[in-house]
Amino acid sequence: MTEPSWQKLRKLPVVGRAADWGMGGHAVSKKTRKAGPRTAGLKATESVCPYCAVGCGQVVYTRGGELVSIEGNPRSPINQGTLCPKGSASRQLVQQPGRLQKVRYRRPGGTEWEEIELETAMEMIAERVVAAREDGWQRINDQGWRVDRTMGFAHLGGATLDNEENYLLKKAYTAMGAIQVENQARI
Ligand code: SF4
Repeated sequence: MTEPSWQKLRKLPVVGRAADWGMGGHAVSKKTRKAGPRTAGLKATESVCPYCAVGCGQVVYTRGGELVSIEGNPRSPINQGTLCPKGSASRQLVQQPGRLQKVRYRRPGGTEWEEIELETAMEMIAERVVAAREDGWQRINDQGWRVDRTMGFAHLGGATLDNEENYLLKKAYTAMGAIQVENQARI
């Protein structure tokens, strides 16, 4: 019995099949031949996804300082070139049209957001930090031990903070007397 042609084809090495079918190089169009990686010619900068505590490696592609694409970094031992949907969409953190560019403030009892200047917002935050520190200051604890600390505020960091930022935050909050300094990555 003659062997069906599809069974003969299955035995051929994959690379040889196109030629054996008589197509050879003609199976590839001129357009395809000219095609290259869409990131060719772009500046590639290694970075870290800021969305969660996994810390996947990213490659950020830019042209003339403009963000063009973000992909998983194959050199990262954590994600080995992959990104989850959030990491893949992290370009939107910079270029999403709905991104807020101004500080917004809703005053106590207010029902509307107001736009305020960054300088004003920083002043307001600094005043509140100083007041909360003083209001919650403990010189002596319940056992009579000297503690010199504030119970007026705590700090909870997010996963967008990197090692260096967390180090500085820990130093700053401890210097102000806070004892609850945490990060989302530990929760
Ligand atoms: S790519 Fe996804 S899993 Fe990786 S750090 Fe970003 S958000 Fe987390």
